[in-house]
Amino acid sequence: MTRCVTIIGLGPGDDQQITPAASQALASATDVVGYITYVGRVAPRPGLTLHASDNRVEAERACQALDLAAAGGNVVIVSSGDPGVFAMAAAVLEVLEADPERWVDVDVSVLPGITAMLAAAARAGAPLGHDFCVINLSDNLKPWAVIEKRLKLAAEADFAMAFYNPRSKARPKGFEKTLQILNRSCGDNRLVIFARAVFTKQEQIKVVPLSAATADMADMHTVVLVGSSQTRLLSHKNRTFVYTPRAYED
Ligand code: SAH
Repeated sequence: MTRCVTIIGLGPGDDQQITPAASQALASATDVVGYITYVGRVAPRPGLTLHASDNRVEAERACQALDLAAAGGNVVIVSSGDPGVFAMAAAVLEVLEADPERWVDVDVSVLPGITAMLAAAARAGAPLGHDFCVINLSDNLKPWAVIEKRLKLAAEADFAMAFYNPRSKARPKGFEKTLQILNRSCGDNRLVIFARAVFTKQEQIKVVPLSAATADMADMHTVVLVGSSQTRLLSHKNRTFVYTPRAYED
């Protein structure tokens, strides 16, 4: 009996961005558990049971996976991107912490994946070439005041920034407020990258100065990258790259 849970990331969209280790985990799995959209990316085969669940039921999904493993399964939990970035790896550990005795026999491991921010940065050039920070703009799991404080301090510290979950129908105002905060702290020419559905057929990369950035440029399929004061454009062979040099000039 294997009794293990492996938490993997499927990368941003294109199967070429799945690591060989994650593919190997899927190839030996008896069960795959995850949000319906991500489970849909796993090819069915004999001997594999797919367990798709709805969004926002992370704790239940984690329990289900651990229970399947406790019963002898080789269970893979799938996230998009990297499973440790605003995704299932932390959800599984939260559930384990809450009930340490329940799954003592289950081995748990996490495999890294290519997170949306890194995929988007590669498409744009190298906007994260110097120091940067990452903020989840959803206030579902934390107060908005915490987000606002982090935005202000990140701008003050001149970090490049990556924003996950920038805007949804349920949270139409947060990204508008984010742009207002940035407008107060950064210059008009600060570069903003809207990277939508990166590494899928719907991919769209838009680069605009902060003064031209509007809230409707982002949705739930977008990761937003904001440059530091040093981030610039570079033209090379019919292409414009966005990049942040490794050395500080000021
Ligand atoms: N674990 C995932 C992130 C989950 S949070 C990862 O590591 O990428 C969901 C957010 O990720 C989305 O709202 C969006 O901001 C970002 N995202 C995920 N896939 C994306 C893609 N292909 N292109 C752009 N942004 C993406």
